[in-house]
Amino acid sequence: MVQSSVLGFPRIGAQRELKKTTEAYWQGKVSVEELFKVGKELRAHNWKLQKEAGVDIIASNDFSFYDQVLDLEVLFNVIPDRYTKYDLQPIDVLFAMGRGLQRKATETAKAVDVTALEMVKWFDSNYHYVRPTFSNSTEFKLNGQKPVDEYLEAKELGIETRPVLVGPVSFLHLGKADKDSLDLEPISLLEKILPVYAEILKKLADAGAKTVQIDEPVLVLDLPANVQAAFKTAYEYLSKQEGLPAITVASYFGTVVPNLDAIKGLPVAGFHIDVVRAPEQLEAVADALTPEQTLSVGVIDGRNIWKADFAKASELVKKAVEKLGADRVITATSSSLLHTPVDLNNESKLSEEIKDFFSFATQKLGEVVTVAKNVSGEDVSAALEANAASVKARSTSSITNDETVQKRVAAIDDAQGRRASPFTERIKEQEKVFNLPLFPTTTIGSFPQTKDIRINRNKFTKGTISKEEYEKFIESEIEKVVRFQEEIGLDVLVHGEPERNDMVQYFGEQLKGFAFTQNGWVQSYGSRYVRPPIIVGDVSRPAPMSVKESVYAQSITTKPMKGMLTGPVTILRWSFPRVDASQKTQALQLGLALRDEVNDLEAAGIKVIQVDEPALREGLPLREGEERQDYYKWAAESFRIATAGVKNATQIHSHFCYSDLDPNHIKALDADVVSIEFSKKDDPNYIREFSDYPNHAGLGLFDIHSPRIPSKEEFIQKIATILEVYPVEKFWVNPDCGLKTRGWEETRASLTNMVEAAKYYREKY
Ligand code: GLN
Ligand code: ZN
Repeated sequence: MVQSSVLGFPRIGAQRELKKTTEAYWQGKVSVEELFKVGKELRAHNWKLQKEAGVDIIASNDFSFYDQVLDLEVLFNVIPDRYTKYDLQPIDVLFAMGRGLQRKATETAKAVDVTALEMVKWFDSNYHYVRPTFSNSTEFKLNGQKPVDEYLEAKELGIETRPVLVGPVSFLHLGKADKDSLDLEPISLLEKILPVYAEILKKLADAGAKTVQIDEPVLVLDLPANVQAAFKTAYEYLSKQEGLPAITVASYFGTVVPNLDAIKGLPVAGFHIDVVRAPEQLEAVADALTPEQTLSVGVIDGRNIWKADFAKASELVKKAVEKLGADRVITATSSSLLHTPVDLNNESKLSEEIKDFFSFATQKLGEVVTVAKNVSGEDVSAALEANAASVKARSTSSITNDETVQKRVAAIDDAQGRRASPFTERIKEQEKVFNLPLFPTTTIGSFPQTKDIRINRNKFTKGTISKEEYEKFIESEIEKVVRFQEEIGLDVLVHGEPERNDMVQYFGEQLKGFAFTQNGWVQSYGSRYVRPPIIVGDVSRPAPMSVKESVYAQSITTKPMKGMLTGPVTILRWSFPRVDASQKTQALQLGLALRDEVNDLEAAGIKVIQVDEPALREGLPLREGEERQDYYKWAAESFRIATAGVKNATQIHSHFCYSDLDPNHIKALDADVVSIEFSKKDDPNYIREFSDYPNHAGLGLFDIHSPRIPSKEEFIQKIATILEVYPVEKFWVNPDCGLKTRGWEETRASLTNMVEAAKYYREKY
């Protein structure tokens, strides 16, 4: 019998229960007991759902109040000293590490002021993990026993689970050295961390766990020799400990083949691999197993929402069965289902035709089970037939194909992707138009999305206020933001994006070729969830999407107003993409649609246009090689297609989140001004890499993920550090990213201090 397995389930709740309670807890509106109670209910609900669907191997410890990697940092005491000196409750230490904490002193507690740890994208997904930050003084020890508690919780409900933990090699390799220990290479801590892994695994075994899932997703990356070697050290060590559960080492989002030597012969019970993303690895991995090892074959996509093709999935699993025998093969989701929305049944507005294309986390449970049954020889013919019919219907649907768009993409030529003149000439023309001071100040686009904004948007969606009323409201919000920026002396203004629920969804809703959901939320980081649109067919722009708001905003100020768009790569990355067309084709289609918008903005008198590409870095293929080189080309090309149709004097801005960006890649976009998330980098080498960037750049000066307010002096200091290596003439002053998740109070204070610091430097230079 081939068993079925789910590597993890979304923890946010079908109605975003987790977000609601967590945020209420942060605001002091619910107690820690209430918070924990909601967590417990969510876990129970998810386990039961999987049990009822007939899933054989169900994960536990896939739940987290913030991030599963952060949980492990707390569990193993990888907690920098700055978080432990305030006598916070353990859960508050965790939240402080995740999002920073600034709290005034009260009669009973002292003031708290601590920034968040760095947050980085989880591989090439839009999920972010809190980066483990190690120092020479890190002392590994167990803080609590969350995985054991949750295992027992499930057991009490009569559900046997397989606890999941990020493995030692990935945990270290995905981490970094803290500021005080810059010479520390995290992987060198392996021998120190292994005993705590052994300790928690032993506790799990004592609680009754027979097996565990140890995630080692770094196996799909290019790994240096010492990290490859670490697998042997780690798993041989664990295999020598008495009485631990059987270990399945799981990888996902790519192929392990280049690292096969590192895991061949490891003394573990089995491996899990992702054959949705990398089907070609199946044979090589199956061949490399020892005679007892099992292979969990990930055939149900944990990263996308398309209904699985049962015939194809079954074929892959059968291939493994032929080699290994049914008892050594498991049918699984490709990765945790964390990256998919919870339940398609909560969608009432999708047409039946489109709905039939999709499968969300809850539906995927049934898919894993059906495929497992099918390869085990059970009769599931009715399900197979229905599945084959819907797979066929999609490929031939008129929703999928638009000939006009396909022709326009085929006709793209070089000139379309090139500005009229090089930057050195463009900037002269732009300087004449804008006449900006040194250290020009700007923001990234959004201002606080207040409750009032959300309430009005809801009213409009529900039809309780008219279109006119809503537009009036949006104009008043824009005016507020414009006046504020004028008041504190920002130089290049934004309209604040109050009309946008989300920077991708907003455009997706106006583009042809997209479908969107009502409840398709996916966790992005902490309590921040996104609702990615779905690219269902060829993409085009039927009508202007952002011109009205930008024109209004420009009409009420004499300062330059930035038009604000989301770039092709980001729209692609933050949507669920098609799997029946290449990423490149989808990006070029989006590039053309945005080109129409950029040109319309310019024609309407907007002289600065920002096309955000925050997802540029995460789209980078995980390994070096041809695929990555191609990506560099088409990502830049699609951006230039979108932006190169404007006059020299029109200034194109772009923005990128989460650094570690290759300056050459940014250069290839040829934007006049870029802003880059930077505040948590603290790495002079990184600034140095950017000092040769030929165009203008603003390195983000404060963390917008945190409510913390940096003082004027802190900004001055930060700018001074950057100025040590970065030239004055190209220096822009801006925050890390948009301010939509912040409150007005901290926004006002932070931006005021930032502008004051810019003024200070203007006087100096
Ligand atoms: N313009 C967007 C904003 O300010 C950019 C957000 C982002 O980079 N993630 O919200
Ligand atoms: Zn950003």
